[in-house]
Amino acid sequence: MNVKFIDDFINMCISGSNLGWHERNGGNLSYRIKDSEIEEIKESLTDNNNWINLDINAKNLANEYFLVTGSGKYFMNINKNMEENIGIIKLDENGESYKVVWGFENNGTPTSELPSHLLNHSVKKEKTNGLHRVIYHAHTTNIIALTFVLPLEDKIFSRKLWEMATECPVVFPQGVGVLPWMIPGGKEIAKKSSELMEKYNAVIWAHHGLFSSGEGFEDTFGLAHTIEKAAEVLVKVLSISNKTLNTISKESLLSLENPFNIELNKNMLD
Ligand SMILES: [Zn+2]
Repeated sequence: MNVKFIDDFINMCISGSNLGWHERNGGNLSYRIKDSEIEEIKESLTDNNNWINLDINAKNLANEYFLVTGSGKYFMNINKNMEENIGIIKLDENGESYKVVWGFENNGTPTSELPSHLLNHSVKKEKTNGLHRVIYHAHTTNIIALTFVLPLEDKIFSRKLWEMATECPVVFPQGVGVLPWMIPGGKEIAKKSSELMEKYNAVIWAHHGLFSSGEGFEDTFGLAHTIEKAAEVLVKVLSISNKTLNTISKESLLSLENPFNIELNKNMLD
């Protein structure tokens, strides 16, 4: 299908792949499709009425359509055969089951992280009055590296990342959430992630990667990119020396609030 939201979705996958965040079949992406966009493609959708239980409840996503990457599919190949690598699902009227209405050809299925994507969408739809539509998971190398050497605490990661680049407190003034190592792909990690998504637009999975949420493809990717870039700087700083001479002080961080019209999460500054 040749429509803008699918093009943008695929371009985001390729951008992440080009940055080395999607080795093999690593990472996944989902987009809550607008009614007007579904209208545009409705001729291409099929209805097999084969409902699959999700084992979660996302009531506020009832009857919504999502464009999702496929389980086991490689981001680097995504534009070579999109009907196999991605697909569109529709949730039932209770937000408990889904059916495939386009794509996932040749017995494909949505990403194994579908529960995390949908519970995050559910939280973000409520918290942002429907503005957020994109959830992205990437294996961001430097963030993963930091989860081996920093305490797995929201406050420490948020403050350290803010200090690594002046744009960071402006781009993610709420900070970031951090989850300890958990088994991926299930209901438990989905629940814990969505609890953190109540407070943050980005959640780190220790020794695994990053989730980000946003209104569109550009800002969701940009958030992941900004966080990973700050993590890269921090990895370099820690590699050079175990002692830093200078940083962005608490006062300097706070002085960004007025000119950039942001409110920093003060819990990260205590
Ligand atoms: Zn992953």
